[in-house]
Amino acid sequence: MSLMRTSTSTTSELRLDPARCDGTGICAHLAPDVIELDRWGYPLLPKGPLSSQDEAQARRAVKGCAARALFLERRPVD
Ligand code: SF4
Repeated sequence: MSLMRTSTSTTSELRLDPARCDGTGICAHLAPDVIELDRWGYPLLPKGPLSSQDEAQARRAVKGCAARALFLERRPVD
């Protein structure tokens, strides 16, 4: 029996749980190139995979979100 390992490239996308988000807008200050705020202070997230530079900022925003409303979702590259 042999075990075969495959390596899969992944990308990250920023996601929001709107039920947890309180609209304080801290995430946009931590990731100003990635997250914008709507007129009520709720985050507008980029659609699609993040570049590695944007992912670094997004990680800061995820860590800084006390409500744990933000998360990164990894997806395999097609
Ligand atoms: S920091 Fe978290 S709770 Fe606050 S606006 Fe951003 S996602 Fe919502």
